[in-house]
Amino acid sequence: MKITNVKVLVTCPGRNYVLVKIETDEGLYGWGDATLNGRELAVASALEDHIAPLLIGRDPDRIEDAWQMIFRGTYWRGGPVLMTALAGVDLALWDIKGKRAGLPVYSLLGGKTREGALAYTHCGGEDFHEVEDEVRAALARGFKNVRVQVSIPGNVGTYGTAPGRSTVMGSTRPDMPYVEQWEPAPYLRTIPKMFEHLRVALGDEVELLHDVHERLNPIQASRLAQELEPYHLFFLEDPLRPEHKESFRLIRQHTTTPIAMGELFHSRWEAVPLITEQLIDFIRCDIGHIGGLTEARKIAVLAETYNVQTAWHGPGDIAPMTHAANVHLDISIPNFGVQEMVHFPEVTQEVIFGGPTFDNGYMVVSDRPGLGTDVNEAAAAKYPYERSYLPMVRRFDGSVHDW
Ligand SMILES: [Mg+2]
Repeated sequence: MKITNVKVLVTCPGRNYVLVKIETDEGLYGWGDATLNGRELAVASALEDHIAPLLIGRDPDRIEDAWQMIFRGTYWRGGPVLMTALAGVDLALWDIKGKRAGLPVYSLLGGKTREGALAYTHCGGEDFHEVEDEVRAALARGFKNVRVQVSIPGNVGTYGTAPGRSTVMGSTRPDMPYVEQWEPAPYLRTIPKMFEHLRVALGDEVELLHDVHERLNPIQASRLAQELEPYHLFFLEDPLRPEHKESFRLIRQHTTTPIAMGELFHSRWEAVPLITEQLIDFIRCDIGHIGGLTEARKIAVLAETYNVQTAWHGPGDIAPMTHAANVHLDISIPNFGVQEMVHFPEVTQEVIFGGPTFDNGYMVVSDRPGLGTDVNEAAAAKYPYERSYLPMVRRFDGSVHDW
């Protein structure tokens, strides 16, 4: 079998996605996801102009060799653009391999270790009562784990709360990023009070998570993690900027709150010190930005060795193929922890279908060969690319902060 064509499809069914279709001379094809939110066309160009020509004529069965060729063959390697492009190719090749074998990808990865992937959903609100109501609604839908975020009084716009409900500073141009305003002090005062409210209102059984979104410095993160100890979080997510691995030691010295980290990593070697020094409890790389299933599987094996569990990134800005890859891996490894889940709107499912489904707290994939996902290309053509950006954050003095 030989690869005959690599097609890159950029479409905006609700939001932008970069999809990769690899076609073969035997009629089999595979779909991957190469979406990098806010820099979509850079990845599309990397694929179309530089990577696709290298793949034509190759045997699609040789995934590891293709991975090594794309990663190391550039000489200047890595980075979010190239690792997202690589992930798109990698997923499409796993999809083909599964279809060729007549087996779902989880079977090729060693077979099921569990029936479904424990899922968590996002709950957010303008105040503690709105968050509580959202958690109750999620529990009624079957979720056992929920991530909770609340608007911070005094700040303008808050990550993880409903967009458009806070007054958002920013550009009047809709195609430019909107700008939120953020200070750590009110955030650090508010979050422990939110958890106190939720534990009193909801009891101890529901598993609660919270995402700091890399906004704190090491001593602030240590203080927050310590103050949250009485509320027994499932994990505290991404407390520090991804550049500062050594600062996780400070957090560890101060708290037993479980720590998750990794969605901004685009290299296995970024995760290595956090895992081997046991500075985190959950590794949550983004399969779509770290080079695909081939790389995530190696990270999972390393994490297993050090008793670290997985919690792969699962936001709306990666396509259902990557969510499917998450679950195929989740249900085939021994050290799976939890899986972040979003519900895709109908317009997205019209274009990309066959992704994971939700069943009473767990995500499941079908037994269809490959990843199980497919694309309606005619429907995709109805939704052309629209330039868009993630929000930005500035401090009250006007300086740039991490979103
Ligand atoms: Mg996150």
